[in-house]
Amino acid sequence: MLKSNKIYLDYASSALIDSANPGAIHGLGVKEKDKLENARKNIAQILGAHSDEIIFTSGATESNNLAIMGVIEKISQTFFPHIVTTNIEHASVLEVCKYLEKTKQIEVTYVPVEANGIVDPKKIKKVIRPNTILISVMYANNEIGTIQPIGEIAKEIRYYKKQKNSTKSIPGLDKSKPGMDFPLLHTDATQAMNYLPIKVEKLGVDLMSFNGAKIYGPKGVGILYVKRKTPVSPIMFGGNQEFGLRPGTENVAGIVALAEALKITEKIKEKEVKRLTKLRDYFIKKLMLKIVFDIDIKINGDLENRLPNNINITIPKIPSDLLVLELSARGIYVSEKSACKSGEKAGSYVIEAIRLFPALPKGKGERRNSLRFSLGRQTTKADIDYTIKALSEILIKLKRWYAR
Ligand code: PMP
Repeated sequence: MLKSNKIYLDYASSALIDSANPGAIHGLGVKEKDKLENARKNIAQILGAHSDEIIFTSGATESNNLAIMGVIEKISQTFFPHIVTTNIEHASVLEVCKYLEKTKQIEVTYVPVEANGIVDPKKIKKVIRPNTILISVMYANNEIGTIQPIGEIAKEIRYYKKQKNSTKSIPGLDKSKPGMDFPLLHTDATQAMNYLPIKVEKLGVDLMSFNGAKIYGPKGVGILYVKRKTPVSPIMFGGNQEFGLRPGTENVAGIVALAEALKITEKIKEKEVKRLTKLRDYFIKKLMLKIVFDIDIKINGDLENRLPNNINITIPKIPSDLLVLELSARGIYVSEKSACKSGEKAGSYVIEAIRLFPALPKGKGERRNSLRFSLGRQTTKADIDYTIKALSEILIKLKRWYAR
């Protein structure tokens, strides 16, 4: 017997922590379903999408996997597919591409970004072929914060499609089926959600991934936006949840919290962008001051087209893991590279991709030396001042050993 004098006899579908299975048709299940669908509707509205275009997943990794593998799975029976991506994508895009190259008959082109960490849309356009199915370019990079020109890439794709439709068609492809108009555009918007415009139609994307963790919501819950008629197959098998694209009981509490987090993010976006841009530029200006730092500190990535909360620097000759530890000892927590890649010996592939130190042998030296400071809602100017002071003290200490 429940506290409410109701009897719950559906423990096999979901043990009662605080909720029932949203797939159940009894009263409690329906309530859960309402919460779920309400969250879906609210998220769709914020993205300028339809509710049936929102797929809940376990995070951005799964969303990226589903977007790329799902599209390939759906169409690869018909012909030999080609994917275009960049060399600074998150591991959950790059590793999927590598896996598909190994196990399926597909080809991937990794377009290198420019020295400022931004991909040239013309270079993307140049590598599109008649069999290019999917272009996957992240909206903003997680290490150096550079913003990729998704709108311009979408424009190039639209132009290409127009030309293609009037000339050649792909052998073996039934174009009479809806959605079979390629290439599709996927973006990993995980790092962009807090700061950039996210209306999917305006961006011109067919698929978009993000998660709860980066928007001050819960970890372990994510979203894949899938434009209507986009050909995608599930990559896991089981129930029929999420429009048949993602089986498994939905994480209702996490999803409701994500929807709420997204609402708050949208509400304060403009103000936070202004506040953090100012703080970021203040931080960068201080870092460049030779009176405080008599070392050449390099800022990685474009200074204009970067997230308002990202500062990524290289301090030549001083190992960045040591800097992370020294800062940590002073209560300042920063990263060297993507957390998903920490623990690996090799340096950051993103820093390597922007060819800061082309002369260095692979896997060695300064390409390891990058520090990422990422600011957020709780960051104040006093925090930045304290960090600058700590960093200058640390550098004075370490320089004696390293910067000879
Ligand atoms: N893409 C980007 C750009 C990210 O920053 C992250 C998180 N580090 C992910 C994907 C993976 O997200 P999740 O941990 O939710 O799977």
